[in-house]
Amino acid sequence: MNILVINCGSSSLKYQLLDMTGESVVATGVIERIGEELGSITQKSNPDKYPDAKSVEQLPIPNHEAAMRLMVDKLVGEDWGVIDSLRDIDAVGHRVVQGGEDFSAPALVDKGVIRSIQANIPLAPLHNPANLTGIEIALELFHNTPNVAVFDTEFHQTIPQKAFMYPVPMELYTEFKVRKYGFHGTSHKYVTRTAAAHLGKPVDTVNLITVHLGNGCSMAAVEQGKCVDTTMGLTPLAGLMMGTRCGDVDPAIHAFVAKHRQMSLADVDAMLNKQSGLFGVCGMNDMRDIHAARAKGDDAAQLAFEMFAYRVKSTIGAYLAVLGGADAVVFTAGIGENDEDVRALACQDLEGLGIVLDPEKNGAREPGVRTISGRDSRVAVLIVPTDEELEIAQATQAIVNG
Ligand code: AMP
Repeated sequence: MNILVINCGSSSLKYQLLDMTGESVVATGVIERIGEELGSITQKSNPDKYPDAKSVEQLPIPNHEAAMRLMVDKLVGEDWGVIDSLRDIDAVGHRVVQGGEDFSAPALVDKGVIRSIQANIPLAPLHNPANLTGIEIALELFHNTPNVAVFDTEFHQTIPQKAFMYPVPMELYTEFKVRKYGFHGTSHKYVTRTAAAHLGKPVDTVNLITVHLGNGCSMAAVEQGKCVDTTMGLTPLAGLMMGTRCGDVDPAIHAFVAKHRQMSLADVDAMLNKQSGLFGVCGMNDMRDIHAARAKGDDAAQLAFEMFAYRVKSTIGAYLAVLGGADAVVFTAGIGENDEDVRALACQDLEGLGIVLDPEKNGAREPGVRTISGRDSRVAVLIVPTDEELEIAQATQAIVNG
């Protein structure tokens, strides 16, 4: 079965075609700067076989429909094509950011599902409209093919009310559904299943702390395979410190900055989303640049690094308490998978909580799933490379197979 996974953003479209027989990637691509004067499409065909070969083309891409047609042309085209026709695509899986309280599992797209995604637009005004555009165009292009929506929020729908409610007037929840939703759900779900398999335990018996550290960062407390808390909230601004997002701050900062800088609330919001986090503290948002600057004695870079790891560490402590102990702490995503310094600092001096890293294993640059804790660590520490596209493809396949 060939499954096309689509992640439609406001000005970009990421896609991946997977052959589910061996769960291999047939093609992967990204279309950028949709709606601008000049856009681009980059595709890798059979990347396992030809990892360094890619097609890059620049051309105007006026809208998402043009982008989807371009993707299809590329997938069936003469030079970089990987399939003969659209009929070779058996199902399409769509990433949807916000499913609200309507979706605790992936859903086969029908009119009711589309209405529910629309109804959740106020909770994700930047993302859900773009995701929906992708679905609507795909329904036209692939009209006899099942389309499945997979939500970033669904894994977190098992969080109990005492953890997802905010202590604000109840009407904000009853009228506007203001509550913690959490994001990166496909990643947390994928690494949960993969970590359980690595530990040799059924997924519904494991307690895990999953730590997704990429451009966006979030953690989840997973009890018996189900999410019981997470760090992101109503929006992906909450929780850990991120590349340019502040994470948790005193909520009174909004009013304070608006008053003293004479900024609108929208401008303060943009500042906390785009000019804060690592970037706000040291002017860099890529952890590799921050390490290079630290090595040259940059104090701000050192501070940003320490603040970043401190939040991960304090949340590990909080989630150990929430879970009453864990089988494993699982690091994933760009920083989580690759950055031994962040992992080491986040796990430093946690022997009393049963967490002991093996410095050699932590420093080894090996691909794939691996254990990096020492023999005497009661809690395993793992690296699990995330694969959100595969998670979406597997969920799509499961729905299509009934
Ligand atoms: P992601 O959102 O998962 O693609 O992660 C992107 C982020 O991962 C980048 O902004 C970098 O900060 C970080 N990253 C990627 N590779 C490395 C690396 N080798 N060492 C440290 N950080 C890395």
